[in-house]
Amino acid sequence: MPAWFIRENGQWILAKEAPLLNHAVLHALDNGTACLLVAPGSGVSINGSPAADLGIHFLAHKDEIRCAGRTFYFTTEESPEVIAFTGQACKCGRCRTAIGEGAQAIRCLCGVWYHHGDPSCFEYGEQPLCVACRRPTLLDGSALWCPEEVA
Ligand SMILES: [Zn+2]
Ligand SMILES: [Zn+2]
Repeated sequence: MPAWFIRENGQWILAKEAPLLNHAVLHALDNGTACLLVAPGSGVSINGSPAADLGIHFLAHKDEIRCAGRTFYFTTEESPEVIAFTGQACKCGRCRTAIGEGAQAIRCLCGVWYHHGDPSCFEYGEQPLCVACRRPTLLDGSALWCPEEVA
């Protein structure tokens, strides 16, 4: 599911619900993307450019939306989740052995799968990193993209 970064008390909060805007509507779509519907005179900008009036704008990962002095970001990244593996058999990124149907597994944002269990190949060792993309392989969401700190 897509999500939104909303600034609250000086911190970026990841929200599942689209923020409410004046003269514009943010709408999450079932396919994991989102669109922005803009009314005339809304003053909304996307990535620094004014949004066209009466326009429908399809949002992409990391798009910045500004409205009435507030800033939001759209993100399509999701926290890694432990699921029962299904589909084409593949090898674990850490231990290189097969991940079988139904095994507890976690997929990195880049698509590489890892075993999850005791011990977990995903959260293996201190400060574990994905073998492919070098993102932290941790379940606390630290691998997710987050907006830059704004001045
Ligand atoms: Zn493994
Ligand atoms: Zn990765």
